[in-house]
Amino acid sequence: MAQITLDGLGKVYPGGTRAVGDVDLDVADGEFVVLVGPSGCGKSTLLRMVAGLEAITDGTVTIGGRVVNDVEPADRDIAMVFQNYALYPHMSVRDNLAYGLRNRRTPKDEIARRVDEAARMLQLGPYLDRRPRALSGGQRQRVAMGRAIVREPAAFLFDEPLSNLDAKLRGAMRLEIKALQRRLRTTALYVTHDQIEAMTLADRLVVLNAGAVEQIGTPLEVYRRP
Ligand code: ADP
Ligand code: ADP
Repeated sequence: MAQITLDGLGKVYPGGTRAVGDVDLDVADGEFVVLVGPSGCGKSTLLRMVAGLEAITDGTVTIGGRVVNDVEPADRDIAMVFQNYALYPHMSVRDNLAYGLRNRRTPKDEIARRVDEAARMLQLGPYLDRRPRALSGGQRQRVAMGRAIVREPAAFLFDEPLSNLDAKLRGAMRLEIKALQRRLRTTALYVTHDQIEAMTLADRLVVLNAGAVEQIGTPLEVYRRP
């Protein structure tokens, strides 16, 4: 069974712009699917509809067998990693990692277990008591990923998570995400306009153009020279 299914998914913004039209897509359990395409083609809108951050105009989003069109973002069993980190500046790294779980009344020892595990995976152990401003860009991005990992979601949604980083760090983080994916095998839908990122990370690529699926395939199929 697919972990994420989009069925005739469409979005018209108030004002009349059709950002996404009639997209069908199955993301299998454990599959890493990357959405690519030119600026303005609807990648971000599509991802935000899956996350529940944007109202759906047509069609359905199904996550883990449940139609989630009317389900709040926090109850969708997904976790999103944003490009601007979205960390709380006044909280330590540990509290940033734990915050969402505390809000959902996760037991203390369970929170501690998940935070320790994420910190180990992301090499954040030495920084747990620091504030975000005392971290490097790469470390902040790792905390942002840690916040998603501790939720143990059915799927990760990535919205251009590396586009604020310099080229060297972007390369390193790309490999870290790849390694995490090999280890966790969590379903992922990842938006980027970076071809190397797409080639490195994708099991399958979806090329969007003007809100519609233009091509779907493995990186080799999509980027194969004619
Ligand atoms: P991408 O992520 O591929 O750059 P977007 O999903 O951001 O594309 O945008 C798709 C289309 O929808 C574009 O034409 C964009 O101008 C339009 N759009 C995006 N957000 C809004 C909005 N809040 N209101 C109106 N139009 C929007
Ligand atoms: P709060 O609910 O108090 O604002 P958070 O700031 O952690 O707590 O999260 C904002 C909302 O989005 C919450 O409903 C939370 O469950 C959810 N949420 C938090 N982190 C993520 C994430 N990485 N991806 C998706 N949803 C998240």
